Amino acid sequence: VHDNADLAALVRTIPDFPKPGIFFRDVSTLLLDGKGFRAAIDRLIDTFDPDAVDLIAGIEARGFIVASALSYALAKGKIMLRKAGKLPGAAIGVDYVLEYGTDRIEMHVGAVSPGARVLLVDDLIATGGTALAGVKLLRGEGAVVSQARFLVDLPDLGGAARLADAGVASGALLV
Ligand code: 5GP
Repeated sequence: VHDNADLAALVRTIPDFPKPGIFFRDVSTLLLDGKGFRAAIDRLIDTFDPDAVDLIAGIEARGFIVASALSYALAKGKIMLRKAGKLPGAAIGVDYVLEYGTDRIEMHVGAVSPGARVLLVDDLIATGGTALAGVKLLRGEGAVVSQARFLVDLPDLGGAARLADAGVASGALLV
């Protein structure tokens, strides 16, 4: 795994998933490749200052895989931003609009101390709706969220630009 083009080759594209006309970028093939996944995580770490991060927040479910690897490598705690109804403790949530319908992500109350600097991560950013919901949720609990990282960005869908408008600098390995 020499460069990001090698990593990009490990992500496959599946047409017509989950709906006709959508080209789904499937990272499961990158996850199958141990050296490729390690290289992806190492390169992601090279794109931010770990000393400026107190906690890592991952979005269910593929975001957990990224958050977990970063958390282990950097010995930083992590936060699960979960789909509705999964968390056992007192939780707060944010509803967000999808192309059809709405969705909701939740986190445990008290997971972040006010002022904690949280890096938001997920496998992929498309429109940015999911990531923005995560930012709103974390900020609502007092976190400082100024950075987000993804394995893949689909820039034509405008997510990174929307995050920038919200004061979050984002980056991705594969664009
Ligand atoms: P957004 O909210 O930015 O439009 O969509 C991003 C969210 O949906 C992320 O949680 C991501 O995991 C998922 N997602 C949307 N499109 C894709 C895709 O093509 N591939 C993958 N792996 N995830 C996607």
